[in-house]
Amino acid sequence: MIDRCGRNIDYLRISVTDRCNLRCIYCMPEEGIRLTEREKILQEPEIIRVCKVMAELGITKIKITGGEPLVRSRIPELIYQIKEISGIEKVTLTTNGILLKGQMKALAESGLDSLNISLDTLDRECFCKITRRDLLDGTLDGIKEAMKYPEVQLKINCVPLGLEEQDLCGIAEFTRKNPVHVRFIEMMPIGYGNMSESISNEELKETIRKHYGNLTEDFRVYGNGPAVYYSIEGFQGNVGFISAMHGKFCNLCNRIRMTSTGDLKPCLCYEQRWALKPALRMENPEKRREEIQNILRKSIENKK
Ligand code: SAM
Ligand code: SF4
Repeated sequence: MIDRCGRNIDYLRISVTDRCNLRCIYCMPEEGIRLTEREKILQEPEIIRVCKVMAELGITKIKITGGEPLVRSRIPELIYQIKEISGIEKVTLTTNGILLKGQMKALAESGLDSLNISLDTLDRECFCKITRRDLLDGTLDGIKEAMKYPEVQLKINCVPLGLEEQDLCGIAEFTRKNPVHVRFIEMMPIGYGNMSESISNEELKETIRKHYGNLTEDFRVYGNGPAVYYSIEGFQGNVGFISAMHGKFCNLCNRIRMTSTGDLKPCLCYEQRWALKPALRMENPEKRREEIQNILRKSIENKK
């Protein structure tokens, strides 16, 4: 679907849960999270229903995210069913990797195309400071497991916080020995993102340049989003930068989001949302489909 700014909206991000096994300082508070009651969260058949209508209207790529998506059961089964929908070309997953070790085989078998694992630091203490949990080994085990399945393209996502012990060059170094891309995502003032320090990608690029020499822009496309990739001589993977704050890429935005309770959110930075659940729970399948289509059209037409 083309929105009123002429952008082709073909990418849907689905949050399947608001629960998480970490408490990253830029995303969630330490305590006192009000979790959504389970009955308010969309059920598997409802998510599939939405995906089918979305595919009819031109969505071709779907990302499963959270919260932490892997704390919800049956994610491989969900992905398998989404992959079966005519028109859906690509299904990807973003995870903190902690529960990946036990699920990676099933995920690869489900037809998952690509996997993003979030890893902000390789330093255990710093990991505890950022995520408030002592679980770095879980994420590293998840990454190791994921690398056994080269058919699932792997990317590492890192939010630079400007903490010295975060050692961002160490994270970039990961791509020297491994055929994975590392992407640095500028912190955004969403969640708790405006309560923590951060550094800009330009600053970080300069630091990496000083450390490793020339960065050569790589114009190949490695994902669905606005990352700009660079290669470093001798490195197997690339480093990418998503400059959410200092870059300006709204004109290229191709996505829409759906919360775990079935609200469509055309943009992260606006509160605007459209509730799909009443339509999704309609008895009459024809009416249901029509109503979901109407809401989807309205939300895309009004995307800021
Ligand atoms: N729990 C999963 C994970 O951490 O990968 C998936 C959900 S998480 C919200 C998706 C991504 O958003 C992660 O890479 C995380 O680092 C990033 N993120 C969360 N809050 C952010 C913020 N305020 N600014 C920039 N990125 C943020
Ligand atoms: Fe959980 Fe991901 Fe948020 Fe960290 S960024 S608290 S892992 S949802």
